[in-house]
Amino acid sequence: MLCSPEALLQKNKALTDTWQRYLATPNVENFVELAISINSFTEFLIDKGIAALHHASHQLEQVTLAHFAQDVTHPLPQAAQDDLNERINELTRLTEARAHNNLDTLSRDPVVIAPQSMRSVQAWLIGHDPDAWADLLVQLGYFGMATEFRTWDQPMAESVDTAPLLLLDMNGLPEAEWHERIQALRQQYAMGQLICLEVESDFGQLQQALKSGSDSCLLKGRPTHAIVEHIMELNERHDQEAYRVLIVEDSKTASHLIHRSLAEIQIESHIVNDPRETLNALKQFNPDLILMDMYMPNCTGVEVARIIRQHCEFLSIPIVYLSGETNVALQVDAMRLGGDHFLTKPFNPVFLNTIVKSKIERYRALRRSMYHDSLTGLLNHSSGKNMLEVLLSGIVHEGGFLSVVMLDIDHFKQVNDRYGHPTGDQVIRSLSWLLKQRLRKHDMICRYGGEEFLIGLPHADAEQALAIMERIRHDFSQIHHPHGDSHFLTTISAGIATYPLAQTGDALIKAADQALYQAKHGGRNRIHLSDD
Ligand code: GH3
Ligand code: MG
Ligand code: MG
Ligand code: MG
Repeated sequence: MLCSPEALLQKNKALTDTWQRYLATPNVENFVELAISINSFTEFLIDKGIAALHHASHQLEQVTLAHFAQDVTHPLPQAAQDDLNERINELTRLTEARAHNNLDTLSRDPVVIAPQSMRSVQAWLIGHDPDAWADLLVQLGYFGMATEFRTWDQPMAESVDTAPLLLLDMNGLPEAEWHERIQALRQQYAMGQLICLEVESDFGQLQQALKSGSDSCLLKGRPTHAIVEHIMELNERHDQEAYRVLIVEDSKTASHLIHRSLAEIQIESHIVNDPRETLNALKQFNPDLILMDMYMPNCTGVEVARIIRQHCEFLSIPIVYLSGETNVALQVDAMRLGGDHFLTKPFNPVFLNTIVKSKIERYRALRRSMYHDSLTGLLNHSSGKNMLEVLLSGIVHEGGFLSVVMLDIDHFKQVNDRYGHPTGDQVIRSLSWLLKQRLRKHDMICRYGGEEFLIGLPHADAEQALAIMERIRHDFSQIHHPHGDSHFLTTISAGIATYPLAQTGDALIKAADQALYQAKHGGRNRIHLSDD
């Protein structure tokens, strides 16, 4: 959701440049380049959640892809060129309008990010009745958002944030005004997130809101906690590592072309021209997917795939074959031997990028389910312990502190008993959101057990860790957990142990656990430092 106007303009310029190159030399190669950059722009918009521009870009992509048919020759007929030209100009006009709106505000006010929260989002609620939304704004505040209420008629303040969150209360706003109002806000805050609240489950209303530029709609009567949940999910941190692809292909030209096509959508790739290097490359590069040429000197792609599958750590890595082969029987054999897909050369780069991306998404989701807890998305018990060892060895090597926190919800049995298990689950999720929101990117958060969390804070000494956890403890104690028409409060206790006072991962966990026990014994809703 965060994107600088400069990055958006740069991306658009890359697209118009390739179009100019095609117009100067209208051959297949330049048309392929154009398709790659249009695809790259569309992916960029999806990635940044810029919904309104996406429509125009997606349409352009569809039209371009239609020109990949067998019987198309270049240069394209004049009418087709004119159509593309018009679409590209329109997309550029929209992009510039949006980016410049944001450039203005950017140059006046620098983005301010609070030191402790990893992402301080500005949230405005625009509506008629501040009292109706007071509770929602307070709750969002506890999750680290800077909130403010504005009426529909108040002139909008200038944003200090390039991507504010705008919550629009559609209740009482005449439907005839929706389009104009939403569109104006979309125009002003191109990179922002627009959510319409209190929309009827009505085709016309929903269509109106979405078409005018809102990113999502929440239907009438959604309780506060469900709205908070929706917003927190939108803001979950998505700081994923770049996707990695290993290209096993003897042709230097083909492999280079693939490498460049993938680079356009920010996928890293490593090329192996000699298939005998595959195993080494796999171990060093640790890819998410393998693109495998079918015919290479001395061996076939299927043989290489079989060798790869002899290693249990590479049993499930997706393999996509590349080949000029149109022999269907051979393709079936290749798939039987553990291939995931077949792309025939000369391949359509947009198709290649899309297949690679979707296969990797599925593979990553599979691996996530192995290492992460399904309720909270945090690391699970065993991967949390492993990660703590990794953090510790880094600190031992570099020198410095590593604080380990053991955290537990107070009297959680009573929460379950009074309000039911599903409500208890929601409390666990709220705590995990708060932790994700407040801790830094390189901190480690793990759901260690039921309502117990293990946290690793590299480069934080005991006092710093205590200050960080004290804020989290206080803010968690203020969060309203909804139940029926009412709500309840709950608290946490934690114990902290710090390297080098305790030296191993197990010793740190044990010391933090003892400190937690003391915090519980001392009356709960408190944080204790280990005495060791
Ligand atoms: P204390 O303040 O001493 O920690 O009291 P407590 O009631 O929290 O005590 P304890 O840690 O022994 O109890 C934890 C309870 O959490 C027991 C179990 O029923 C519940 N629990 C564990 N995992 C889950 C879960 O995933 N969801 C829900 N709703 N409850 C869980
Ligand atoms: Mg070959
Ligand atoms: Mg407990
Ligand atoms: Mg417990």
